[in-house]
Amino acid sequence: MSEASFDFDVIVVGAGYGGFDAAKHAAEHGLKVAIIESRDMGGTCVNRGCVPSKALLAASGRVRELADAEHLAGFGIHAAPVRFERQKIADHANQLVAMIRSNLTKTLERAGVTIIRGHGRLEGNQRVGVREISGVDRVVTAKDVIIATGSDPFVPPGIETDGRTVFTSDEAVNLEWLPRWIAIIGSGYIGLEFADVYTALGCEVTMIEALDRVMPTFDPDITKLAARHLIDGRDIDARAGVLASKVTAGSPVRIELSDMQSRELVDNLEVDAVLVATGRVPSSKQLNLEAIGVETNRGFIPIDDSMRVLVNGKPMNHLWAVGDVTGKLMLAHTAAAQGTVAVDNILGHSRTIDYRSIPAATFTHPEISSVGLSEAEAKDLALKEGFELGSVRSYFKANTKALAELESDGLMKLLFRKDSGEVLGAHIYGLHAADLIQEIANAVARRQSVAQLAYEVHTHPTLSELVEVAYKQAASQLTKTR
Ligand SMILES: Cc1cc2nc3c(=O)[nH]c(=O)nc-3n(C[C@H](O)[C@H](O)[C@H](O)COP(=O)(O)OP(=O)(O)OC[C@H]3O[C@@H](n4cnc5c(N)ncnc54)[C@H](O)[C@@H]3O)c2cc1C
Repeated sequence: MSEASFDFDVIVVGAGYGGFDAAKHAAEHGLKVAIIESRDMGGTCVNRGCVPSKALLAASGRVRELADAEHLAGFGIHAAPVRFERQKIADHANQLVAMIRSNLTKTLERAGVTIIRGHGRLEGNQRVGVREISGVDRVVTAKDVIIATGSDPFVPPGIETDGRTVFTSDEAVNLEWLPRWIAIIGSGYIGLEFADVYTALGCEVTMIEALDRVMPTFDPDITKLAARHLIDGRDIDARAGVLASKVTAGSPVRIELSDMQSRELVDNLEVDAVLVATGRVPSSKQLNLEAIGVETNRGFIPIDDSMRVLVNGKPMNHLWAVGDVTGKLMLAHTAAAQGTVAVDNILGHSRTIDYRSIPAATFTHPEISSVGLSEAEAKDLALKEGFELGSVRSYFKANTKALAELESDGLMKLLFRKDSGEVLGAHIYGLHAADLIQEIANAVARRQSVAQLAYEVHTHPTLSELVEVAYKQAASQLTKTR
């Protein structure tokens, strides 16, 4: 097919952040672009993820702050009992979602992107079938096709959801009611964020984690400190090493808990509601990937570093995939960055992505964040490449700003190479950890050395001085040959 005979230069399937950034970037560079969306413009992040959850966290965080009499008394403040309106908190989240969804749609329209509302599938090379919402089924062609179909909540076998008493984050973000007692299955970032919201609003939480410790995906030292405050210090009963093997929706919701190892029944719980936060699965089943020979890895689409889809390990021409459906650091900013990189490659500018420098954050109160290698990964690398691994800690209780805020519970751990000083990663728990991590992410991206970073002057008094302290400590430990 000659280029002129294609309907579009680029067709993007899925209008989450991955698809959005790809479509916008391509249109802004003069390409003729269509984007196909089967559900809501903006995808998970805008409608069922980052945006509504952060709105709920902002409101419930204020409730927590105003209800914390002990903390306020430290400043000499005595507040009246806090009252809140659940519906207005939910409205705040819904209004924010509607605004961001509308802005994003207008941005694409202004950039000249054709928006097709319907379900997309592959119909062969450079051919996309669309069943439009109107019922019309047609095939559109493009020189390049970008798959950005994202992910959906994973519900393990044995768990029956009804969307009302047993639900996933898709429904939880609507905050339709406040159960007196809610069980949250999973202690990853989504489970933790909702535990933060629910406990601030007066719900009792039981957290069920199948692996042998809560917060299994976080740095163990950070977890020790964070769990003391975010779990043990709240109305949360955390149970690790147990599996919610059967959950029956209703009033009450019945949960059978089994030992993770032996699978023997260990307890029965009756709660008002269950939030299933056990991870996410790629949305790739209905894409008809078999038609072009793409084999997925448990549904995740294999890609190379420039976002080209791999078939039998070899990059395919004109087919790209970005975002959660690729299974790489499933976060909104990763999806967006991948979308831009895919388009740059389509435009002929060879670009890859540096996953090591992509930060991640959990927006609990206080926050948790990380970037780069975990300590276990850094140790492996040190062994493999024969360098000595450095690790230093910087404490919030030694930071003037944190002390002034009476929020000195927190820790930053910095990992670096003792030979070159290169920053390998960082893990933070404490006030504004999500903002603090960016400075270190930038250093990781530039593969900078603490020897140089230790001389960068930070504003006093700010939390950023925690980073300066860590860089200085690390620089003092570099191997003397430098
Ligand atoms: C509760 C929660 C909180 C989160 N908080 C954060 C956070 O604070 N920060 C952060 O970075 N990330 C967060 N995330 C993760 C973030 O939402 C995802 O990483 C991000 O949305 C992935 O973007 P994407 O473009 O790959 O996919 P998605 O956002 O999932 O978008 C994919 C789109 O494709 C559409 N689609 C699927 N199949 C088809 C098809 N065949 N045809 C047409 N359209 C199709 C879907 O309807 C969807 O709109 C959160 C997620 C959840 C669930």
